[in-house]
Amino acid sequence: MAEKIIMGKEGKLQVPNNPIIPFIEGDGIGPDIWKASVRVFDAAIKKAYGGSKEIEWLKVLAGEEAFIKTGEWMPLATMQAFKDYLISIKGPLTTPVGGGIRSLNVALRQELDLYVCLRPIKYFEGTPSPMWQPEKVNMTIFRENTEDIYAGIEFMTGTPEAKKLLTFLMKEMDVKKIRFPETTSIGIKPISKEGSERLIRAAIQFAINHKLPSVTLVHKGNIMKYTEGAFKNWGYELAEREFAGEVYTWQQWERTKKESGEAVANEEMKISAIGGKVIIKDAIADNFLQQALLAPQDYSVIATLNLNGDYISDALAAQVGGIGIAPGANINYKTGHAVFEATHGTAPRFANTNTMNPSSVILSGVMMLEYMGWRDAAELITNGVAKTIRNKTVTIDFYNLMKAATLLKTSEFADEVIKNL
Ligand code: NAD
Repeated sequence: MAEKIIMGKEGKLQVPNNPIIPFIEGDGIGPDIWKASVRVFDAAIKKAYGGSKEIEWLKVLAGEEAFIKTGEWMPLATMQAFKDYLISIKGPLTTPVGGGIRSLNVALRQELDLYVCLRPIKYFEGTPSPMWQPEKVNMTIFRENTEDIYAGIEFMTGTPEAKKLLTFLMKEMDVKKIRFPETTSIGIKPISKEGSERLIRAAIQFAINHKLPSVTLVHKGNIMKYTEGAFKNWGYELAEREFAGEVYTWQQWERTKKESGEAVANEEMKISAIGGKVIIKDAIADNFLQQALLAPQDYSVIATLNLNGDYISDALAAQVGGIGIAPGANINYKTGHAVFEATHGTAPRFANTNTMNPSSVILSGVMMLEYMGWRDAAELITNGVAKTIRNKTVTIDFYNLMKAATLLKTSEFADEVIKNL
C-alpha cells in the first residue's frame, strides 16, 4: 500500500517501499519532458529493486494548467500536498506576468522555507562544452534560498513607501551616499546569522558525508562588509565551532603560519583535504567566477548567498552543457521538505514539439532518489544518461554542437536512457 514519506525523530527521512510523491508536469515543454522522465524513473526503480520498491506518482496542479482549471496559479491543495508528502518533483512553471504572485517557485521556496538551493555541476563525457577540459569541473553549489536582495523587499521610486524610507535614511540615519534621492528605488538586503549558518552547515555536512575535499564560501565581503562579509565570518566561526576535528579552515592556517612560522603548502591547502579533513576556504565572487574557468579542479562544494548563487549556478552549468542538462533541488534539511526541479524555464516556443532535452528533470530525479536513499536506482540512471550521451544519441540542443551525432526526440532520448540503464 502506498504511504507518505515522513521525517523520523532523529532527523532522518523514513521512506516506505511505496512512497507517494507529488509531481507537477510544468508548463510549455514541461509535459513532454515529464512524460519522458517518469518512464526513466520507473524503469530504473524496477531494474534496481525488482518490484520490491515503487513510487506512486500523485499529479498536482500549478502554473498555467492550474490557472485554466481552477483560476489559481498555485492552488492551496497543491501547496498542501507539497507540505504533506515532504518530497516532490516539478517541471518548469510560467511566471505569471503582472500583479499577484511574483513567481510560483519563489512562493514554494518561501512557504516551505526551502533554504538550500542545491545545484550539482557534473560533466558527462562527450557533452558539448565551451571548456578546454570540462572533466575538471565537478562542483556542488549550496545557494542560500530565502534571504538577500531576493527577499523581495523593494520599493519603487516615487511611491510613499520609497519616500518614507529615503527620508528616514537621510534624516535619521544621516546617510549621505544616495546620489539621486528624487529618482531612487530602494531594495533591502537582509542577511542573518541563522540563515547563513544553516546554509553553510548543510554544505559542510554534505562535504563530510561525501568525502569531498573542500567547501568554499563565495561572497562580496570586500564591498558589502556587514552582509556578505559577515556571511564569510559566520561561516568560518561555525566551521571551527561545530565541525572541529573534521575541517581545517584558512583562518586556522593563517593562525598556524603566524604562530609557528610554518605554513602548510599552498597547493595542499587548495585541493586536498589535510589528514582527511575538509578544507574551508573563501573566495570573492568575481574572482571565483574567473577561477571556476581557469582552475575548476580547485573547487568542490560552494556555499554562497542568494544573488551570487543565482549567477554562479547558471555560469557553472554552462561549463558542463547548459541548462538543458542541469538538475536542481530546493531543500529544508530540518523538516525534510524537498522540491526537485528542472533548472530551465518553460521554453514556450518549443511546447509540444517533443524535441527538448529531458536530462534536467531526469537528473533532478537522480538527486531525488539519492535524497530518498534509493542509491542503486539513482546510479543506474546516471550511468544510462552517461552512456546515451557518450553514444552521441542526443536531442537537438546537443546535436547542433556535436559531430556525427544521431538526433533524437525527447521521448526517444528517454527510450535510449532506459536501454542503457
Ligand atoms: P527558458 O529556460 O525557458 O528558455 C531559454 C532557452 O533555453 C530556450 O529557448 C531553449 O533554447 C533553451 N532550453 C531551455 N530548456 C531546454 C531544454 N530542456 N532542452 C534544450 N534547450 C532548452 O528561459 P526563458 O525563455 O527565459 O523563460 C521562459 C519562461 O520560463 C518564463 O515564464 C520564465 O519565468 C519561466 N522560468 C521558469 C523556471 C522554473 O520554473 N524553474 C526557470 C526559469 C524560467
